Amino acid sequence: MLWLLALIILAGILAYRKASIHWSTLAIGGLLTAYLLTAEKLSSSHLSLWMTYLIAFIPLNVIPLRQKLISHWLFVLMKNALPPMSQTEREALEAGNTWWDAELFSGNPNWDVLQNLPPAKFSKEEQSFIDGPVETLCAMLNDWDITYNRKDLPDEVWDYIKTQKFCGMMIPKKYGGLEFSESAHSEVVMKISSRSTTAAVTVMVPNSLGPAKLLLNYGTEEQKNYYLPRLANGEEIPAFALTGPHAGSDAGAMPDTGIVCYGKFKGQDKVLGIKLNWEKRYITLGPIATVLGLAFKLYDPDHLLGDKEYIGITAALIPTNTPGVSIGRRHYPLDSAFQNGPNWGKDVFIPMDWIIGGAAQVGNGWKMLMQCLTTGRAISLPALSVGASKLTCRNTGAYARIRKQFNLPIGEFEGIEEVLARMAGETYILDAARQVTNAALDQGEKPAVISAILKYELTERMRRVVNDGMDIQGGSGICLGAKNYLGRMYQVIPVSITVEGANILTRTMMIFGQGAIRCHPYVQQEMAAITEGNLEAFDKLFFQHIGHWGHNKAACIWLGLTNARFLSTPGDRETKRYYRQIARLSVGFALLADYALLTLGGSLKRKERISGRFADVLANLYLCSCVLKHYQNQGSQKDERPLVHWACQESIYRAQQALEDILTKLPFKWVTGMLSGVIFPLGKPNKPAKESLIHPIAAVLTGDNPARDRLTKGIYINDNPDDPTGRIETALIAVLAATPVEAKIKLAQKQKILPKGETSALLNEAIEKQIISQQEADLIRIAEKARFNAISVDDFSEQELLG
Ligand SMILES: Cc1cc2nc3c(=O)[nH]c(=O)nc-3n(C[C@H](O)[C@H](O)[C@H](O)COP(=O)(O)OP(=O)(O)OC[C@H]3O[C@@H](n4cnc5c(N)ncnc54)[C@H](O)[C@@H]3O)c2cc1C
Repeated sequence: MLWLLALIILAGILAYRKASIHWSTLAIGGLLTAYLLTAEKLSSSHLSLWMTYLIAFIPLNVIPLRQKLISHWLFVLMKNALPPMSQTEREALEAGNTWWDAELFSGNPNWDVLQNLPPAKFSKEEQSFIDGPVETLCAMLNDWDITYNRKDLPDEVWDYIKTQKFCGMMIPKKYGGLEFSESAHSEVVMKISSRSTTAAVTVMVPNSLGPAKLLLNYGTEEQKNYYLPRLANGEEIPAFALTGPHAGSDAGAMPDTGIVCYGKFKGQDKVLGIKLNWEKRYITLGPIATVLGLAFKLYDPDHLLGDKEYIGITAALIPTNTPGVSIGRRHYPLDSAFQNGPNWGKDVFIPMDWIIGGAAQVGNGWKMLMQCLTTGRAISLPALSVGASKLTCRNTGAYARIRKQFNLPIGEFEGIEEVLARMAGETYILDAARQVTNAALDQGEKPAVISAILKYELTERMRRVVNDGMDIQGGSGICLGAKNYLGRMYQVIPVSITVEGANILTRTMMIFGQGAIRCHPYVQQEMAAITEGNLEAFDKLFFQHIGHWGHNKAACIWLGLTNARFLSTPGDRETKRYYRQIARLSVGFALLADYALLTLGGSLKRKERISGRFADVLANLYLCSCVLKHYQNQGSQKDERPLVHWACQESIYRAQQALEDILTKLPFKWVTGMLSGVIFPLGKPNKPAKESLIHPIAAVLTGDNPARDRLTKGIYINDNPDDPTGRIETALIAVLAATPVEAKIKLAQKQKILPKGETSALLNEAIEKQIISQQEADLIRIAEKARFNAISVDDFSEQELLG
């Protein structure tokens, strides 16, 4: 038994240290020799041990033999099992690159990758744009007027957006744009979104998938020189038209066609071009666009371009005044007022040089879109979500301090505190993920899986924060009108959830479906080796993969038994344990990912309840890493610690629970039972965020303090008492200033010097009895007036409502 134990420990050490097959053979051979030498008498069972050892290890060490006896069979098996992949699937899979996501997937994250990422910084120009034109634009925006009265931005706002080049943030200066970093771009969208979703979406679209990005990456010089300056100064309004009635999430299945043919164009009788027919819907800025970036399937039935009949998805720029183009009426997306609508084209003839990148880029449209969407997903909607969450936290937190029920600020009730803590904790996570990811994008990373994580997680969590805000605001959130800062935001949430990859699909298909292949240290290379028929490469990768699996198993047990206490990670006294738990859970994740791939193979694609939970593990580990990095970037501020603890404890707990959930859903219960023992040998150590964190976090939101200012930094803040948020800001300051005076009156009531009743009704008596001064009484009067102003709601005449 002791020798058997020694063998298990030795195998564990070899696996943990990722020892090569040669070293493992020698070490296990050495142990076996020692066992035989100490035996009193050699028997036939000893001989059979030697035989087993030789049969197992000789083929593993003699590579040609190994290839013939093992790898060849696996190669054939996997080749047959590999699900067929369409071109659009392959191009989506190959878009962008991997970054910290691949480290988490490896089960052994190299923290230097994250530690060496410099925090995002704005240039002087970017900062002055944020403090200048963005602030001015926000001050010009009256969301109620935009969404209720006008159903559009006012002319002066449109003009300002165009002249200040809000639509050209990512266009280089040489083409007349602002050439901002992704971080600055995100900061601008975030601030505007805290004022008006309509304006934010209007600015967002030209800077994300609007054809400018496609032109920059793939356009011909001629196209860039013509379009980019016009897009930068708003002379051209772009829209990107991909979705149609029959192709939504599965946009690659669009029925829109282009046929290569000769046609008449600008007075010429025989121009080589494309005859287009399409029907699109939901196109943002479509109703006012001057140029459409159109995606369609290109066919060449007369072989005018070459041998292929179906060329592939292609993207072209179509001026909307081209004969045959119809711009339809407007959709009305949930009471928001950004321009959105259908458009279609009937036998529209375009020359080949309207294709983005010219004739050389025929059939590359899908690849172009996927590459550009990859980074786009990490910027616009996340910025919008963080803007909405910060706005909700700042104002609902203040409202909870201002609003009184049962003679107490509602923010002091435990039920409300719990909700406030959740809102603030989530917002801390959201902003950390936004800032850290933007910093990576600024360094040139294009992490596809991370951008899907950001799109999904940030929009979902924003939905929860805004919902929580609505609960706390009560009737003042529900009754719409010029005074309500939150109702419109609440109404428009599903737009963020649906666009740029609807969330259910993003979670279940993109994050893990793509991640399992892109981020896995071996799977994509193994698949490539199989596709290329390269047995040698497959053999090498496969045995490295086995070593990786063995390492993860040993690491899981060791880290589980020690709770990762001896693992070397960054972090201080406050945070080290979280770094360790991330590392520990990432090994469990890597182990289960391999098991899922092994047992489910290609069918994992359809097991969305499993892949969705894998996505949750990866996302929570990523978000938690961002929180730790963000905390460090912010100078490890003491007053932020409750938020950091909440964010880390919740994320780690959710990752752990998702792992547990996966174990219940994977096949072969006896194996998953064993795997559960390997991943959690001493049970599950992580719990939801501690109760003791709730009060200090809620206090961040209900007070006027630096932690609150940092948490909500970057949104539009004003102190105009007639503004929907300005009235809450001013009321909070007034209410806080009056708090010590209220306390004096309450004490006097307790001591029976003053009678029971409303503070405001006792002011004169309190002055007479010298409990408070005249100035102190004025503080209470000012606070009461501001409080009433902050809690008031709009009302309308019947006629006003009917319009
Ligand atoms: C306001 C707004 C603005 C838009 N702007 C533009 C634009 O500018 N340009 C443009 O081209 N498009 C635009 N879109 C289109 C947008 O990208 C699509 O709405 C989106 O792709 C989803 O398509 P769908 O609405 O047809 O929903 P569907 O594709 O019908 O999806 C319905 C539901 O099914 C789920 N689902 C689908 N497939 C799967 C799957 N395999 N697994 C799990 N769940 C799945 C989705 O997640 C979703 O929840 C916009 C849409 C809206 C609403």
